Amino acid sequence: MRLPSLLLSATSVLVSAVAASPAEAANLLSWQFDASQNKLTFTTDAGVQPTAKLIPSPNRIVVDLPGVRLGGATMRDNFGGAIASARAGQFNANTTRIVIELAEGYTVDSQQVKVVGVNPTQWSVQLPTPKRISQAGGNVSVPTTPQNQTYNPNFQITSSGFYVRLDDSGDDRVSIQRSGDRKTINIDLPGVKLPNSLTGRVLPVSRYGVSQVQFAQTGASGARLTLSVDPISPDWQASVSRLGGVVLMPRGGLYAIRSNTPTPEPATPVVTRPTQPVVSIPVPQPLNPTPPPVTRPTPPPQSRPNPTPTPPPATKPSPSLPQINNSRIVVTIDPGHGGRDPGAVGIGGLKETDVVLPISLEVARILERQGVGVQLTRSSDRFISLSGRTAMANRADTDLFVSIHANAVANRSSVNGAETFYFSSGRGLAQSIQESMIRRTRLNNRGVKQARFYVLRNTAMPAALVEVGFVTGNSDSRKLSDPAFRDDMAEAIAEGILNYVKRNY
Ligand SMILES: [Zn+2]
Repeated sequence: MRLPSLLLSATSVLVSAVAASPAEAANLLSWQFDASQNKLTFTTDAGVQPTAKLIPSPNRIVVDLPGVRLGGATMRDNFGGAIASARAGQFNANTTRIVIELAEGYTVDSQQVKVVGVNPTQWSVQLPTPKRISQAGGNVSVPTTPQNQTYNPNFQITSSGFYVRLDDSGDDRVSIQRSGDRKTINIDLPGVKLPNSLTGRVLPVSRYGVSQVQFAQTGASGARLTLSVDPISPDWQASVSRLGGVVLMPRGGLYAIRSNTPTPEPATPVVTRPTQPVVSIPVPQPLNPTPPPVTRPTPPPQSRPNPTPTPPPATKPSPSLPQINNSRIVVTIDPGHGGRDPGAVGIGGLKETDVVLPISLEVARILERQGVGVQLTRSSDRFISLSGRTAMANRADTDLFVSIHANAVANRSSVNGAETFYFSSGRGLAQSIQESMIRRTRLNNRGVKQARFYVLRNTAMPAALVEVGFVTGNSDSRKLSDPAFRDDMAEAIAEGILNYVKRNY
């Protein structure tokens, strides 16, 4: 069973401390999605009448709270199962939106979603157990995603482009050419054998200025993907990952497209795609009237060991760290390893995963406190694949990605120090983190280096991978086992990220 993230509940309670309320606006005081119960609960400081709906592709339950302000950055938590994530954000000036997103291939029966108002300020949304969407068309248990042609187990429309899942990604050479009329882009992948579900297929996508993607096996020598695009849309880039497939993204990111024209209709006639409707979920009136304002009679002093719920510890932004006033910035923090993969094991059995998780959680806490949104790829000791980590960041389209690791080298305890890696656009981020890390922790400076790590090469945003020291080092291992040092390290990494955000956003 997976418990709801402690971090999330802590940070969502935090909102109440931050929100300053104009007279008539309500504030979201707390929210929590309990993944073990499939249940969302939230409370506001004034009555609200939410609306709820099921929206397809990706399937998600959207709960809108009109007249409610979030009062902070978007917060999200990711879950490993049929529920992919839950997040709360300011949808527009007057509405806070909570989104519970199902994992790919899952949906829920909207008729079984129960929205209950205990009173106008306390609500719960109970989801039924998510169901797998039948792909074969056999026993379709849930009338959800139609067998539209876009759905393909090896092709995914992500929040930053497309993802093609391949069993064998061939070598790293990718060549891309755009036709003279600018309407087609050919992406050649030498050495790739397409899976059967893609070979010879034309998938209408109608996203990001691309009307369709065609997949062809060009003999044994490789595969060709052909994008049919709007002539004025930007060029596309493709990156191959050894472990999982090909990531396709427009050059310049989605902003290049958002400022562009609408997506053209599919170039070739296709079977009419049944449009999956948005399904409204009825929301009944609250069960009870709004509780009267709490005017507690002051109890006799002796009888109250703890009269009011203890407020969360003061989480005022630290004046010694940059404060960010752009709540739209979201950073993915990726604690390396976890679960069945402990990472490196060093002196005294010190495990990398036990070093990087507490550091990462503290980095996340500090960033949120300083006004930056955070997505954690994991907040507990569990296994996540590398492609799962990058997919989370890419799907959520976060602004930055920072993976946190500890180093190891066999039989050389004299090797100590911290270093930070980047692959392409993350150089400035890596430099900022390394600078702050060395200045604050005084570890040996091993510098900023370029490296072809999977998570650096398959993320669509500036990405850095931090090595916080050697669990095998005679000096580092002692420090890394010390919770106080880990907190210092977390503050140093957070400062590096905040400085970078301050300079670039
Ligand atoms: Zn590692």
